[in-house]
Amino acid sequence: MTLFRVFAATFLLVSLVVLNSPTFAVGHTSNNPFGFIHRLEGSRRGQSIEGLRDAKHYLQKFGYYLNDDHKDTNVATTTTHQNDDEFDEFLEAAIKRYQLTHRIPVSGALDRATTAQMMIPRCGVSDHGLVVMTVLLAEDQNKSEDYRFFKGKPKWNKNHLRYKFPKSNPPAGLKEATIKAAVARAFRSWENVTELTFENVGGRAKADMQISFYSRDHGDGFPFDGPNGTTAHAFQPRYGRLHYDADEKWSDDPSPMEMDLESIGVHEIGHTLGLLHSDDEAAIMYPYLNYGQIKRKLQSADVKGIRKLYGLP
Ligand SMILES: [Zn+2]
Ligand SMILES: [Zn+2]
Repeated sequence: MTLFRVFAATFLLVSLVVLNSPTFAVGHTSNNPFGFIHRLEGSRRGQSIEGLRDAKHYLQKFGYYLNDDHKDTNVATTTTHQNDDEFDEFLEAAIKRYQLTHRIPVSGALDRATTAQMMIPRCGVSDHGLVVMTVLLAEDQNKSEDYRFFKGKPKWNKNHLRYKFPKSNPPAGLKEATIKAAVARAFRSWENVTELTFENVGGRAKADMQISFYSRDHGDGFPFDGPNGTTAHAFQPRYGRLHYDADEKWSDDPSPMEMDLESIGVHEIGHTLGLLHSDDEAAIMYPYLNYGQIKRKLQSADVKGIRKLYGLP
């Protein structure tokens, strides 16, 4: 009996280790919400391939379906093929915008360079503003800015901002102190280049910003998707909500199979301060960040953007 228990426990342990091993970092596994993209590699206009509907929804969710006025549009209003697997002209146009935005040769097909980019874990906030800017830039070579603001340029109307961690449910294996220290460092990066100051006021106090970990559907209309896929999101000023996906593996010193708390924190704080995505791959406000990647230092696009928004030279 005892021996059986030891055996059973060992077996369970081995299963857990196996379940947690590399599948996490490899992009094209069944438990990766962006894994479907891998199967679509090589597809092009005129074809019908199972899963193309998911590519349409991905490109719509992240802002690549535009109408003639460059407004963000629902696939359903653009095409009758929103829920089928037809590679139509609207999907091709959305892929071209995606390729243009991410500086991939524009083929309009789901070639390898495009599918590889699409499968990288990313921020859940739409790239819409960035896509519009890219499309307009392609039409007018004279304009050039590598930062972008929310519509109407919302920003905070005071320089001292208070934040808190209202829900103390750190993902298993992660210490609350580790999270708080990483987030504090992320705030400091923005403090260093602006006149803004940030203060952690503790769980019960009134705060401007709230930082939480959530799984799947959490009531704000932007459900998370489990491990990989979208890893975090945040809202524009002055809503002040910053959410980490609790199903990712988080760390302040990430292995290739963990996500960096501070890198994602700096990016998402950028949204809560009023910045949208940048197409500069080096910028903190670039929407994609892989497991194991560390990117904590603000780049010139980020600094120029935030200083412009808050009226600093
Ligand atoms: Zn983002
Ligand atoms: Zn959320």
